[in-house]
Amino acid sequence: MRIDVVSIFPSYFDGLTLSLLGKARDSGILDLDVHDLRDWTSDRHRTVDDTPYGGGAGMVMKPEPWGLALDQLADSQSGSLSSSKGGPTIIFPSPAGEVFTQATARELATREHLIFGCGRYEGIDERVFEYAADLGEVRLISLGDYVLNGGEVAVMAMVEAIGRLIPGVVGNPESLVEESHEDGLLEYPSYTKPSVWRDREVPPILLSGNHGAIAGWRHEQQLERTRVRRPDLLSD
Ligand code: SAM
Repeated sequence: MRIDVVSIFPSYFDGLTLSLLGKARDSGILDLDVHDLRDWTSDRHRTVDDTPYGGGAGMVMKPEPWGLALDQLADSQSGSLSSSKGGPTIIFPSPAGEVFTQATARELATREHLIFGCGRYEGIDERVFEYAADLGEVRLISLGDYVLNGGEVAVMAMVEAIGRLIPGVVGNPESLVEESHEDGLLEYPSYTKPSVWRDREVPPILLSGNHGAIAGWRHEQQLERTRVRRPDLLSD
């Protein structure tokens, strides 16, 4: 999979060279590039924002650098355009977008080329989203019902959630199947050695060696935990 990220703070993404995603990049499973939006400006100050038409607080990201960035990045993969619309999938993080879930991550992990555009200030000139829709599939995606200063942290979370679903990124694919949200339930509790720690014992059934009983106990724990912590998941 190819992922391009456009941001005015590319160094936010230095952390993506670490851990599993770093290894996936090194091995070529994930072709991840982070770009500075200011590289597509032409004025001396490398300006990316301006005052809003109609007045109001804050600044808005100018459309011109975004247009040039998208032209270049959408074109760079013209041999393998893979979204439902036949172009890259272009994702703009936004508190006003659809909420990102594990199902979204699963869907996006099947794409060949994702472009993430990180907003700042009051956001990006609305015409950029319309223009991007001519180049591929556009998704406005929210991390949750709160407002961040910029899209970078949201994109980090999305890239990590999507990236770990790409075959070969996580060593043991079984560990993905059993996780929270994969089957609509939260994951069961996990324990490791020692079996007694500070007077707290591991549930004896986990030491029984009875795999059927362990599977049943874990499923009950999933149901109970979901009922207590996230009853909304059970009512869906
Ligand atoms: N004025 C915008 C609004 O009220 O919808 C908020 C702009 S926010 C300060 C700047 C940028 O942060 C947004 O363009 C978006 O890229 C990002 N952002 C903020 N909250 C987010 C969230 N919950 N999920 C995803 N991205 C978010």
